[in-house]
Amino acid sequence: MKKKFIIMATVIALAGVLTTACGANQKGKIDYLVLVNKYSQLPDNWEKNVELVSAKNAWDEDVKLEKQTYEHYKELEKALKKEGVIIVLDSIYRSVKEQEELWDRWSKDPEKGIDYAKKYAAVPGYSEHHTGLAVDIVIEKDGKLIEENEDMIAEREIFEKIHKKLADYGFILRYLEGRDDITGYTYEPWHLRYVGSKKIAKEIMDKDITFEEYLESIKDIKGTPEAAKYQIEKTLQEYFKEVYGDKISNSRFNVTKIYTAKEEKEEPLKSLKIGDKDIAFEVTYQLQPSEGTDPNELMIPDGEYDKKLGWVKNLSRLGVLKYSEKNKSYSIENFGTGW
Ligand SMILES: [Zn+2]
Repeated sequence: MKKKFIIMATVIALAGVLTTACGANQKGKIDYLVLVNKYSQLPDNWEKNVELVSAKNAWDEDVKLEKQTYEHYKELEKALKKEGVIIVLDSIYRSVKEQEELWDRWSKDPEKGIDYAKKYAAVPGYSEHHTGLAVDIVIEKDGKLIEENEDMIAEREIFEKIHKKLADYGFILRYLEGRDDITGYTYEPWHLRYVGSKKIAKEIMDKDITFEEYLESIKDIKGTPEAAKYQIEKTLQEYFKEVYGDKISNSRFNVTKIYTAKEEKEEPLKSLKIGDKDIAFEVTYQLQPSEGTDPNELMIPDGEYDKKLGWVKNLSRLGVLKYSEKNKSYSIENFGTGW
């Protein structure tokens, strides 16, 4: 928990920088890249500045959401309808006060209880639904509403179609599968988030990263261990492109350890900012030979070719991520040889 707190404290600081940079402190203007999660609280002036509009949800109840979010949501809804996918609004905006009431109600409900509330409801002040930019949807299938969380998760095919369209309307899928260590939430295919820009939404969705990771990645040189891992993987991708050119069509990395690279002493990286020091790392990776490439060329002594999957798998390697203050860029050094 403490580690998470440090990470998020940095993100909060970043959110502050973005807010100022975008001039979001002006009345009536909001920062569409605002980060609100379990560790990052809704900015003080948000409820005063956000422009909300009214809409009806699946049960004909009045709901509110941020103006631009609603406009783009309607376009998304229309586009999906053309493909035979029906999405309907569920809950959207909740004020801090309403969240307090929901938390209270769920914790006291014998069928739900405190654990359920902890899992599915954010602590008041820490819910993305306070922003008006988060939209929960339900789906309609064969004329029937599918609204229970478990039932929706089971509708993989429908949600795949929905998620494919999100970025075209400035939305992202906020709580990705298997990424709860970063987002703080398990997979929620129904929770969409408007980020104010199709370009940014596309980048996040294409890279298959969380919103938290995206915010880290645009911070240029400063970051957290998570940002360091992200940066290492990104730089390795470029490194392999340089080494192999079009001999590979794809590469995958999983950074398993990071250290400060200091006089051969392994010092685990805790809250060090990348760019301050060189970072040594351990990574497992695999390469996909492009058509016509002999996998043996990518083998590096101990590689293994998985014929069925068409990937060359390699064992762990060590390397160092270096940051050049002069060029404002990263490079990989001593790859395979350690530090
Ligand atoms: Zn939600």
